[in-house]
Amino acid sequence: MTKSSNIEQINELKSVVCRDIDSRAHDLIDISQRIHEKPETNFEEHFAHKILTDYIADSKINVTRGAFELDTAFDARINGGDGPTVAVLCEYDALPGIGHACGHNIIATAGLGAGLALSAVAEQCGGNLALMGTPAEEGGGGKIEMARKGAFRNIDAAMMIHPADADLARMNAIAIQNLFVKFHGLAAHAAVSPHKGRNALDAAVLGYMNVAALRQHILPTERIHGIFTNSGEKPNIVPRETEMDWYVRSPTIESLQPLKDRVTKCLEGGAIAAGCTVSFDWQKNPFADLVDNIPLLESYIRNAEQFGRRMTSEFLPGTGGGSTDMGNISYLVPSIHPMLQVAPSGVSLHSAAFADFTKGDEASKAIVEGAKIMAMTAIDMWLSSELQADVKLAFGDGKVPAGVI
Ligand SMILES: [Zn+2]
Ligand SMILES: [Zn+2]
Repeated sequence: MTKSSNIEQINELKSVVCRDIDSRAHDLIDISQRIHEKPETNFEEHFAHKILTDYIADSKINVTRGAFELDTAFDARINGGDGPTVAVLCEYDALPGIGHACGHNIIATAGLGAGLALSAVAEQCGGNLALMGTPAEEGGGGKIEMARKGAFRNIDAAMMIHPADADLARMNAIAIQNLFVKFHGLAAHAAVSPHKGRNALDAAVLGYMNVAALRQHILPTERIHGIFTNSGEKPNIVPRETEMDWYVRSPTIESLQPLKDRVTKCLEGGAIAAGCTVSFDWQKNPFADLVDNIPLLESYIRNAEQFGRRMTSEFLPGTGGGSTDMGNISYLVPSIHPMLQVAPSGVSLHSAAFADFTKGDEASKAIVEGAKIMAMTAIDMWLSSELQADVKLAFGDGKVPAGVI
């Protein structure tokens, strides 16, 4: 096949998937609205799981519900030939109290639209597709659990879109691990015999102060924030047990490890000073930083331009650093996690105001355009051997640092 006929074929197939998505737009938006109306948190997304998998099954595609031993995960695979396997990921969990303030209803239905459109042309392209439902992004790490069970083996590229207050090619996502801490002391009457007690609240307060001092001597891109979740039972009892909840964040999963060691030393110091002991419970699924695959991202950016969405592969200054379990996946397979504008600039994710925008007209537009841009990018990946080679080269040797899975 000559190069120009290949380009013609790619363009024709891109029109086919876009028409398919247009024909389903009403359904996709309706499903998004229904998921929005019924927000479900980490690993409890039974309604979203059902509505999404029912729609996939109704489209005559085999889908495994409760995939990879997670009740609310799903997995639909289409084998179209010997070409690369592209994964399109759907998130659908919400936040406690503020519902779909991260707009995962948009992620789910854009992924659904892309996946179904691609399934219709996979054979023609000789490409393979993995349309996966990945629960519990908001702290649970569903993708990490799925990766441990082999969900991302033999995948050549993974993609999803995320809503935001701007069109951004990349999310500046840094590594995070949650730490639960317990200080153990000795109860005594706080007035009659305080000398017999060992004060677990003092231990926690001193530990907190140690971390506060540490914060002056960490990288400007690192973050440590904590709260007291149990400070004792009654003022007249020397607190025998106290608890804290900490988030520790560093630019990469590798730089996170030494920072974690420094934090635990600060907290141990508080325990020693107060004559107490301390125990640490690190959350089992740390989120890694996100490593974007630039050639894949550039294909996405070119496709997005057709819809008037202009973005760069450079980070915009001041976009801040959240965290996502897509970061872990980006160490396992070449990945992208671009953001699509659904709200005016300055309306931040995880705010009640943002939750309103994730069901509005801009949200509907992002679902349809996000589905199209992802499907077009998957077609580039399936049919351009040059892009396949560039994606592979950029991914490198695939070394997976400790803590990723
Ligand atoms: Zn979020
Ligand atoms: Zn999110």
